[in-house]
Amino acid sequence: MDHFTARLADVDPEVYAALEAETARQRNGIELIASENLVSRATLEALGSPMVNKTVEGYPGGRYYGGAEHADRIELLAVERAMELFGAAYANVQPHSGSQANLAVFLAFVKPGDTVLSMDLSAGGHLSHGAAPNLSGKWFDIVSYGVNADGFLDYEGMAATARATSPKLIIAGGSAYPRAIDFERFRVVADDVGAILLVDMAHWAGLVAARVHPDPVPVADVVTATTYKNLRGVRGGFILSHRAELARKLNSAVFPGVQGSVILNAVAAKAVAFREAMTPEFRAYARGVLDNARALAATLVDRDITVLTGGTDTPLLVVDLRPLGLTGAAASDVLERAGLTANKNGVPDDPESPRVTSGLRLGSSAGTARGFGVDEFTQIGDWVADVLEAMTAGTAEPAASRVRGEVETMVSAFPIYPA
Ligand SMILES: *Cc1c(COP(=O)(O)O)cnc(C)c1O
Repeated sequence: MDHFTARLADVDPEVYAALEAETARQRNGIELIASENLVSRATLEALGSPMVNKTVEGYPGGRYYGGAEHADRIELLAVERAMELFGAAYANVQPHSGSQANLAVFLAFVKPGDTVLSMDLSAGGHLSHGAAPNLSGKWFDIVSYGVNADGFLDYEGMAATARATSPKLIIAGGSAYPRAIDFERFRVVADDVGAILLVDMAHWAGLVAARVHPDPVPVADVVTATTYKNLRGVRGGFILSHRAELARKLNSAVFPGVQGSVILNAVAAKAVAFREAMTPEFRAYARGVLDNARALAATLVDRDITVLTGGTDTPLLVVDLRPLGLTGAAASDVLERAGLTANKNGVPDDPESPRVTSGLRLGSSAGTARGFGVDEFTQIGDWVADVLEAMTAGTAEPAASRVRGEVETMVSAFPIYPA
């Protein structure tokens, strides 16, 4: 078979079958995992081009390899669009993931042993912000802030810890905190103690782009994000700043600091994501994501399910399952059999281990991308409540199979990736 013409189905039937099965899984179920989305056909095309072959290191105009003319064009397009979309003076689109973007920020501003203040993992923080098993937790002296009894960020505790420990870097943002963060309050504290302020907007970058969420770019020294969550694009990370003078420091932290060559097909797809995010269609999508997350939260609250903070300002919300006597692991298993994919998630002061947990994180980014509106998300909230109630009544399996049938009817009206 010819290297340049043979199709995947013939070259590798096993991988082909798994890929087809995954596409079918995405078509036939409802994706509620907050860190997932559904990319455009255009994104898939950008990812699958022979640009994947090109190796470059460094930055446009200063590469370490020849033949970089088109690679430079692609990366400059991505950088210019990121800067325009977010009103930033600086953008770096090379980070392979959000964690890599954060690692580069650590390298740029702190040294091993320095103090870093971030949100506790159990309060909704991210592994790459200093969790014990992560490099960030092993190499830096991590101090943390959390949430109050009502689930809202404890700004006073954050400020007191900052004053007591004088961190060099303060991180705002997380992966399971559902509310808008008051960046100005972080700014005041960072200025008081002379810290760099990093806002990690991985989960709501699309809402920021569409101006339906407070904008961290003018306030933070550095902003990190991913293109694949709420921004509805390729898997990858990027870095922004309103401080153009940080460009050299941040660029050299990404390359040669923590990365080598650029994944150019991913950079091409990032350029596509930024372009798509400038459209009125995307702004309507982002408003829909927020309306839908709020409708989902409100439906659950109406059904007496405990939602942390009682609602959300972002694409995600967290259900506390302790009042129902259920675990996140058990609930996400039964929901998956009902055609609703969600992830177990720790809640503040969770008595269960990270593999079990007492929470469930739900998100609206992917469902909204396939066209669901408030009616569909209200229905989804009722299904989630039905399944959780049935679990407490010992009738989980019949409820899951009933919901599975209804989910299939709903998704058939919202097709994705036509063959
Ligand atoms: C998802 C996420 C990231 C990025 O994670 P990767 O899996 O490395 O792309 C970074 N920060 C936060 C807050 C996140 O939620």
